[in-house]
Amino acid sequence: MSFSNDVYIELRNKLVDLLKEEGIIKSEKVERALRTVPRHEFVWPTMRDKAYYDMPLPLGNTGQTISAPHMVAIMNELLELDKGLKILEVGTGSGYHAATIAEIVAPSNESENCWGIVYSIEYLEELADFARSNLKRTGYSNRVHVVIGDGGLGLPEYSPFDRILVTAASPTIPPPLKQQLKVGGRIVIPIGTHLFSQELVVLEKKSGKEFDEKRWGGVAFVPLLGKFGGI
Ligand code: SAH
Repeated sequence: MSFSNDVYIELRNKLVDLLKEEGIIKSEKVERALRTVPRHEFVWPTMRDKAYYDMPLPLGNTGQTISAPHMVAIMNELLELDKGLKILEVGTGSGYHAATIAEIVAPSNESENCWGIVYSIEYLEELADFARSNLKRTGYSNRVHVVIGDGGLGLPEYSPFDRILVTAASPTIPPPLKQQLKVGGRIVIPIGTHLFSQELVVLEKKSGKEFDEKRWGGVAFVPLLGKFGGI
């Protein structure tokens, strides 16, 4: 089932109002991004009527999910995003989270001269193709570059990054990601293997070797695949 565009806009604004009331959306930037990016264009086509429920939704039969809007908001607040930054996302999935970040580092309503960029790595080719087509249709393919590969290895050719986010749970923070982060930058990553014993970690790089780690709280993400994955 699908709705008219006006209905989607109304449902999206209601969801953002709720996330603000709950104190999950704190900044004007994150609010604007979630009001702007059409989540119904990123969910699996059979799930469109549920696009503005605050829950993760399955991405077809890939075993992967698009994160819940509150988790996207929490991670975007913790990342302390700004216009012009260069971002690495590990786990493109639908491309939705990457688009919300692009809307902050490269806002649609501002000159391209100030734009930053999002690189996003996806392990599964089927999802990389899905994300690319969603990003193209919604006008984000000029600010989000999707690469197929093992995100635990990062993207040395485009490093260093101002911010790195990982949207799949990893037993430890993959060392290449720490290396490819700028000094003064931060990584937001769910750490843990079992679904109910993961914690969201915020790591700040203080110098070439020093990191400051803060734990935000319990979360539930799909597991990271590849070299640094837990399975
Ligand atoms: N950010 C996504 C949600 C991602 S779910 C969104 O907005 O829709 C986690 C994603 O991470 C899945 O698509 C999964 O295939 C991908 N993934 C898991 N391990 C990975 C790895 N090592 N490298 C890149 N992507 C990975």
